[in-house]
Amino acid sequence: MNILIVEDEAPIREVMRKYLEQAGFHVEEAGSGEVAILKFNRSVDLVVLDLNLPHRDGLEVCKHIRAKSQVPVIIVTARTEELDELKGLQIGADDYIRKPFSPKVLVARVQSMLRRASTPPVTPGGLAIDEEAMVAYKNGERIILTTTQFKILQTLIERPNKVFMRQELIEALYPDGSASAPNGRTIDAHIKAIRKLIGDDPHNPRYIKTVIGTGYKYDNEIS
Ligand code: CA
Repeated sequence: MNILIVEDEAPIREVMRKYLEQAGFHVEEAGSGEVAILKFNRSVDLVVLDLNLPHRDGLEVCKHIRAKSQVPVIIVTARTEELDELKGLQIGADDYIRKPFSPKVLVARVQSMLRRASTPPVTPGGLAIDEEAMVAYKNGERIILTTTQFKILQTLIERPNKVFMRQELIEALYPDGSASAPNGRTIDAHIKAIRKLIGDDPHNPRYIKTVIGTGYKYDNEIS
């Protein structure tokens, strides 16, 4: 797990690095908002962000990160009197730590934040997908799918209630129009297999509904 520490005071950065590394994290450092923006990329799993930075402050850095990513951001600030105000601003931070802080508390907050972030969101029917592991969960139980099955399910779940034509699902699977792209009937066969795996009744499906003459949709209106 990669943590990006954004803090202009080197001694504080050092303490953070030491404790986070001891806890098994890989740490990148940025001593300014500019460097933080340059260093931020998809491999960063969590950002610890000081608010008081010269030039581009933490709020600006947070906005920049949020424009690109939903990565967890923990704001560290000495501006205690502004903490409540900050929370009200909805700047997209996930947690706040007050300075001076205990490094052990920082490590604990980072760990709990990452645990929360790695739990896949659950749909109303109890179905969830984990994009990175390419597995689905039903009521917390793992469902192993083939890559094709996973991509079809993911495409449907990401846009609940949108009706997908078979051709759209084929395009989602093969965006470059590969010659080996399946036809509509192959999609039907995949849907059949996915329904079986997620425990959906083919005659009266709860999750993946057939839209006659068109295609399929993921039904999000499950009670
Ligand atoms: Ca500072």
